[in-house]
This record gives sequence, C-alpha cells and structure tokens, in this order.
Amino acid sequence: MKKRSILWLTLVFFAFVLGACGQKNSRDKSDETKGMKIVTSFYPVYAMVKEISGDLNDIRMIQSSSGIHSFEPSSNDIAAIYDADVFVYHSHTLEPWAGSLDPSLQKSKVTVLEASEGMALERVPGLEDMEVGDGIDEKNLYDPHTWLDPEKVAEEAQIIADKLSELDSANKENYQKNAQSFSAKAHDLTKKYQPIFEKANQKTFVTQHTAFSYLAKRFGLNQLGIAGISPDQEPSPRQLTEIQEFVKTYKVRTIFTESNASSKVADTLVKSTGVSLKTLNPLEVAPQNDKSYLENLEDNIEILAEELK
Ligand SMILES: [Zn+2]
Repeated sequence: MKKRSILWLTLVFFAFVLGACGQKNSRDKSDETKGMKIVTSFYPVYAMVKEISGDLNDIRMIQSSSGIHSFEPSSNDIAAIYDADVFVYHSHTLEPWAGSLDPSLQKSKVTVLEASEGMALERVPGLEDMEVGDGIDEKNLYDPHTWLDPEKVAEEAQIIADKLSELDSANKENYQKNAQSFSAKAHDLTKKYQPIFEKANQKTFVTQHTAFSYLAKRFGLNQLGIAGISPDQEPSPRQLTEIQEFVKTYKVRTIFTESNASSKVADTLVKSTGVSLKTLNPLEVAPQNDKSYLENLEDNIEILAEELK
C-alpha cells in the first residue's frame, strides 16, 4: 500500500512536470478549433463521449491494447489527464486507479466524471451475498460490464451528456440532441434483437470472460463463464470439471472467447468436449475499424443471435 502511494506521488509529480512542459504548444493548437480537452479511460467511454460531443471537443483515450481490467496508467497517461480539462472514466470499481487519482485531481483544474455514476450495478453472479471487507474488495463484487447492454449504454450516454451539459452549458442542446439520437439507436438494437432471442432455441451461452451478464439479462439469456470476471483469471480444476459436465448436460456447441484473452483454457475445453470456438468482443479495447460503438456492439449481438437461433 505504502509502495503504491509513493508510486502515485511520483507519477503525479511527473504529471505536473510533463504537463507543464508539453502544455503550451499542444494547447494553443487544439484550442483554436476544439472546445474542451477531454481524456477518457477506455474504448466504450471514449466512443460515447465522442459521439455525444460531435465536433465540439478534443477527445482522446489513454488505454492501449491491454485490457482495462489489468490496466494501470503510465506517467504519460497521468500527464495527459492532468493536461486535460475533463477526465472521464467508467467506474471506480472497474478503474480503481482512476478512483485513487480522483481526490488529487479534484484539487487541480481537471474536472473528473465517473460516467456510470448513479447507475444500478448488478452483483457478480455467485457473489450476491458477499459483503465488502474481510479481504473482499468492492471492485470484485459488482459487475462493471454495463457497456455491452444497449439499454445500459443509452443510460450511460445520457449521464455523460448531462455532465457535459453542466460543464459546457452553451452547447447543452447539442449534447442532449446527440445523446437522444444515440439512445434511440441503442433502443432500436434492443427492439430488433428482443424477438430474435425470444425465439432462440438455445438460451445459454458459454464465454471465456463473463463480460456479457447485462446483455444476457436484457435478452433473457444465461451466460456461463469459463474464467472468472477477469480475462487473466484461470478457473480451478473443479470449475473446469463443472463446465465440462455443463457442456455435456446442456449440449453446448460453442464457447465464446475474446480476442485479447488467453485462450489456453478454452483450447483445453475444445479438446475435451468437442465444442467449437467463436469470438465475442467485450469491446474493452478499441476495435480496428471505423464503425460506431453501437455498430460494433451489434456485430457481437448478431454473432450471439446467429449462434443461439
Ligand atoms: Zn471485462
């Protein structure tokens, strides 16, 4: 803990130094054309802030190709945050580093926004009765993956729009209009896939990374995870046996892996159960395409719908 605080102090110090050095040039350039300088933590938040801002603000994201669960910001990232007008992250349970950074940012010029603030989060399945404390961290109890449910995404987009409207009231109408159009598209996704999943023969799907609980709940499906809530978490031999039995009992044909997680566990299962592997992208890293956030989300929903029909 102590070591960590020293690390933070060092990072914050570098942030000030770097911020002071790099500030002038980059600032002058972007200020001419763009309103606020907004730094975001990872892809879904970045994509939402961008869509709600339209052309109004200069938006960047600090997360690289590593997954958000194990992400720790570099000193350059911290510098970028301190150099911004606004820093937006998803939730203090998903990005605890952002929560720790928050108190010192409050004393700076940077406005910090938690994009999921006030949203009702579900417990991680199986941990409903656990209490925080006794070595159990709050971040392990609540499922952060709201961005994979179109309705929750719409809710978060509206929270972001409201917060940006407060900060930049001159452009309130734009933010609200963009959020409404985003929400309308998100609701359309739900409406389009609700009847498809209702008619689906299979209601259960198996994933390597249990990122799809909210999506499953929205469409009346059941998700069974191979690994735990984090892509780095290997299941115990007992869990593996349980899953093998589950696959047999429910005649599971497919296991969904994610492109940026280790598929060692899934490979083992393929060999021992004969299921096939497909990819569902939890959208925790920006996909290499020009599609909008909701288009990327729909690609995933479509893959799932195709599989379960
Ligand atoms: Zn995840």
